[in-house]
Amino acid sequence: MNAAAPLAIDDQLDDTTTEPDACSECGRALKHPAADGLGPVCRRRLRAERDRASSTSTRYRVTYTRVGRHGGRDGSQPPGQLTVDADDADQLAEQVLKNVRPYLASRGVEVVVDLDTGRGHLLAGFSNAGTFTVEQIHAEGVAA
Ligand SMILES: [Zn+2]
Repeated sequence: MNAAAPLAIDDQLDDTTTEPDACSECGRALKHPAADGLGPVCRRRLRAERDRASSTSTRYRVTYTRVGRHGGRDGSQPPGQLTVDADDADQLAEQVLKNVRPYLASRGVEVVVDLDTGRGHLLAGFSNAGTFTVEQIHAEGVAA
């Protein structure tokens, strides 16, 4: 029964000399002591990082096989890969449509995305106006 004496929390709280006067992140002097020991700049940055980390959107990479008449047919190159963050298939489809607009003559194009199979296609009326594949990728710093 020789346990170390517990820390005297009350004494620490009363001791105002331990109040941080510099940001614990960057060491910048603080005008006002903060309970979290952070300056306003670092607090904003850390909060933004937390928000990004808790975001529900997923990052996808879209690889086009063919788009319209001039994107990947008759020896032409398909549009380059697209990396987007989207919450769901609808949002992803919207961003794909925005991306391929310049390749499409028709205005009435619909984008169909199937996240289960990782495939998608473009529909202009009843004709297939393009195909692409979708992969889920890990955003930097976030374990998805
Ligand atoms: Zn700081």
